[in-house]
Amino acid sequence: MTCLNIDDVRLIGVVGAGTMGHGIAQTFAQAGYAVHLVDVDENILEKALKLIRQGPFGLMRLVEKGKLDLYRVDDTMRRIKTTTDYDEFCKDLDVAIDAVPEHLELKKKTFRLLDEKCPEKTVFVSNTSGIMITELSTAVKRKEKFIGMHWFNPAPVMPLIEIVRSSLTSDETFKLVIELSRKLAKIPIEAKDGPGFYTTRFITAYLYEAIRLFETGVAGIKEIDEMTKLAFRHPMGPFELMDLIGLDTTLHIGEYIYSKTLEPQYRPPLTLRKLVLSEFFGDKRFKPASRGGWWDYYKVSRS
Ligand code: NAD
Repeated sequence: MTCLNIDDVRLIGVVGAGTMGHGIAQTFAQAGYAVHLVDVDENILEKALKLIRQGPFGLMRLVEKGKLDLYRVDDTMRRIKTTTDYDEFCKDLDVAIDAVPEHLELKKKTFRLLDEKCPEKTVFVSNTSGIMITELSTAVKRKEKFIGMHWFNPAPVMPLIEIVRSSLTSDETFKLVIELSRKLAKIPIEAKDGPGFYTTRFITAYLYEAIRLFETGVAGIKEIDEMTKLAFRHPMGPFELMDLIGLDTTLHIGEYIYSKTLEPQYRPPLTLRKLVLSEFFGDKRFKPASRGGWWDYYKVSRS
């Protein structure tokens, strides 16, 4: 099976219009690509378009900062078509990117559907934070056209894309996504396939350690966030970062890595699990169904 050349790539499909999906769609549209965005309900898609236009990392914010001309906002928005219908979504796609929640079975089900409905040329990409690409690719027939492109949050802002090949990804597919990342002015770096790749294993151990130190009473949420920023020059503390990433995503990633490695640093802390069960999924601006994040649950003063 031959693979598309970078100059043939025109239409990008993004599956899931949540925290990551809307930002990935925005990034491709800003780079001039036509984008199809699919989700399970119209309200989520409407909210995603609103975030792309005027969210904290959206187009109007770039206009305010003098980084984008106002007339380009409407052009960029026009490149994004939303739908809840997979037949309409899949038609003619060059690249399909999964940004559905971090559940192995849901992702496999999604890729099985895409494999059935997308044309043969479509290259499949997962934005999974840490599910092994080789494991996800078992859901499709086109295994050589399947690859991981792990973006970071907020997608339009963060420069790195961690590229992960399965054991059957072709060299052509690898080359295509490297070139595609560069077209978006991102920096692609390869990590080997394995639970959590590099970045997610590293960050999960760090975030869980901060929760454990909070649980043992070493310091409060605000104090840990402040000390992390002041001592290590991190732009955000671990609790602020989890509120941005999503507490559900932070939990599911650890569950997966722990299930595969049994290494204790990846075992999800109980407090995190309790907050997710109580529907505290993180920052409400990005998670419409969330009651809030760490700072909200513990009523930490933001002053
Ligand atoms: P999210 O919960 O914010 O968004 C997921 C979206 O997928 C929701 O809008 C949901 O309605 C939609 N969805 C669910 N089932 C669907 C289906 N069958 N078809 C179409 N849409 C469907 O999750 P997120 O934080 O954007 O995470 C998405 C993926 O990106 C996960 O694999 C996650 O691990 C990864 N990721 C997340 C971050 C982060 O900081 N949040 C960073 C990098 C990678």
